[in-house]
Amino acid sequence: MTKILFLDQSGKPGGAELCLLDIAKPYRDTCLVSLFVDGPFRQLLEKQQIPVQILATKAIGVRKESGLLQGLSSIRELLPAINRIANLSRNYDLIYANTQKSLVIGAIASFLSRRPLVYHLHDILSLDHFSATNRRIAVTLANRAALVIANSQASQAAFIAAGGRKDIVECVYNGFNLELYQHLPAATAIKQQLGIEEDKFVVGNFSRLSPWKGQHILLEALTHCPEKAIALLIGDALFGEQDYVQKLHAQVAELNLEHRVKFLGFRNDVTSLMATCDMVTHTSTIAEPFGRVIVEAMLCGTPIVATSAGGAQELVESGKTGLLVAPGDVKELAAAINTCIAQPEQSAKMAQAANVQARQRFDGAIINQQIAQLLSKVIKK
Ligand code: UDP
Repeated sequence: MTKILFLDQSGKPGGAELCLLDIAKPYRDTCLVSLFVDGPFRQLLEKQQIPVQILATKAIGVRKESGLLQGLSSIRELLPAINRIANLSRNYDLIYANTQKSLVIGAIASFLSRRPLVYHLHDILSLDHFSATNRRIAVTLANRAALVIANSQASQAAFIAAGGRKDIVECVYNGFNLELYQHLPAATAIKQQLGIEEDKFVVGNFSRLSPWKGQHILLEALTHCPEKAIALLIGDALFGEQDYVQKLHAQVAELNLEHRVKFLGFRNDVTSLMATCDMVTHTSTIAEPFGRVIVEAMLCGTPIVATSAGGAQELVESGKTGLLVAPGDVKELAAAINTCIAQPEQSAKMAQAANVQARQRFDGAIINQQIAQLLSKVIKK
């Protein structure tokens, strides 16, 4: 079994971390996940018996969206961490950087220890998401990797457009454990637990609370939908977006939506909650690199409306497996919700088609085999 040293800068379970959890599982006997800060992600790894170690370096900002340059400008402070990773990596076949700041450390450590570098790109390296400088640094370092795994064709294309090497990048979608979706709980029980009346039409939004994730668009859309439509916001501000959370609460009060919106915070029972929802909305206002929540909704058999940009366009075929609406367009989103309310049979049919497709395209067992094959090529190089 390949010996892998995984690196991730975050202690919090965002999409990239949850993806890593599934990738690392088959390597639990031979790998180590090194996190730059401690947090609930460590517990999730430990629960799966995946060895984890906290690098605990103050020099690397905890916030995902803080500058890469900031990371690099303190390179002298990073040296102990780089040395530690370089030394550690000598016991492994390869270094697998799962986030941008871990790429900074991983790339230099890989140079020192002569261990091949793999970079899992979970971002769209466009100017919507990154400054030109950060993008240049990320691409320059990623180009030193033996392999870049892009989480969608959109991420792959943006990488190449930003100067990334075509010959090292492969698109591999996130994989999901299909067993988790086999026995879903009855909607009624969970609705009761949450104090939601049976006749409500529950719209779920599962995402960290962050301006570009567009929860404010859903709140406004709700004002164009019948009273029976209510929204559950599942997720929290993971990377310091507290201002936005306050704004969302203020918006709920301003629009008189207190009785129609529930903030549930970060939850570990997303699958059960999604299965309870009458539909799931994905509301990102700029291109989503992949959009795990979209696939999860499909696997739960819950109708999905997503915004037509980035990876989401590769996941949803509008009118067949869900609906796509223009990013940031309140009226279109409201119209899509109203369509699902008015045409339940039609939307159930789409959800069923989405479920069949998602089981084929995003089976974690198959995706893990694809990754294993790519990694074995890296080692043989
Ligand atoms: N998620 C979760 N609990 C929450 C909200 C979200 O476990 O309360 C999960 C969600 O199920 C998905 C991931 O967080 O697997 C978010 O991934 P996505 O690709 O949608 O967005 P990202 O966070 O990577 O931008």
